[in-house]
Amino acid sequence: MTARIIDGKMIAARIRAQIRVENEKRLQMGKQQPGLATVLVGDAAASQSYVRMKHRACEEVGFQSYGHQLDENATQTEVETIVRTLNDDPKVHGILVQLPLPQHLDENAILDLISVEKDVDGIHPLNIGRLAQKGREPRFVACTPAGVMVLIHSVVENLSGLNAVVLGRSNIVGMPVALLLIAEDATVTVCHSRTKDLAATCASADILVAAVGRREIVKADWIKPGAVVIDVGTNRVDDPGSKRGYRLTGDVAFEEVKEIAGAISPSPGGVGPMTIAMLLKNTLHSAQLLD
Ligand code: NAP
Repeated sequence: MTARIIDGKMIAARIRAQIRVENEKRLQMGKQQPGLATVLVGDAAASQSYVRMKHRACEEVGFQSYGHQLDENATQTEVETIVRTLNDDPKVHGILVQLPLPQHLDENAILDLISVEKDVDGIHPLNIGRLAQKGREPRFVACTPAGVMVLIHSVVENLSGLNAVVLGRSNIVGMPVALLLIAEDATVTVCHSRTKDLAATCASADILVAAVGRREIVKADWIKPGAVVIDVGTNRVDDPGSKRGYRLTGDVAFEEVKEIAGAISPSPGGVGPMTIAMLLKNTLHSAQLLD
């Protein structure tokens, strides 16, 4: 039987609509408009496009957004000065430094500087550290992992005792997804580039989250029948016939996997829109906490 398609676009649109309503109520009560600041270094087309989408999303829900664009050759001090200024700016409730930063910059030092109170991307070591500790709550959960969990919960209510396999162990996706699944009592296996038998490990998964950045690496014979599959991967494939010259595809061979899985979130059209919805949610939450 063909899998149920988890429609991230639709779920994200619903969340954005809720945020817009909550924000309207907030503004009617005379509270401050939530503000998101982005810091973009360089002119990589993909990063520019992501930042544009984030500003547009802010506008749609009635948030203020502030864009800071720096030259590709910006110095560490220049970037850090902007982050410090934003930390002190009461109009700014969330700060997002668009990654990746150019090689010459010390990314960790810049991310560490973001005030934990404004870390709406949820990737400050303190927020991740709290996620890893039993009985502690991060102020913000990283946006893409939070979006993954909402998609999983759209088809499975209780994760307790389920086998979950996460492909990828990055700081921004794989590891926080694994921590969130553990926090919900799933039994979690995290795979990476040194994992010996990916196919066999994946075949044990009731829930499979793929975040490796390898085009359609996950095949139908890796999937336990009925499993929930969330594809985070976003890979560019040359497509001379298309307007942009490329198209996007996920880490999961969607067409074949959907015949085996119980539910599947495709890429594009799944986690991507959720990431932005979670960013808006975190920004609203930050404004509420800072009221
Ligand atoms: P990343 O930092 O490059 O991490 C990739 C992870 O996958 C690493 O842990 C790596 O292992 C592992 N890996 C790479 N090749 C592998 C292989 N052949 N077999 C098993 N594991 C392998 O990437 P990321 O930032 O987590 O992103 C992952 C994917 O998600 C990318 O396609 C990215 O574009 C996409 N993404 C989408 C969104 C969204 O909003 N939709 C947001 C973020 C990322 P090692 O640790 O051993 O190197």
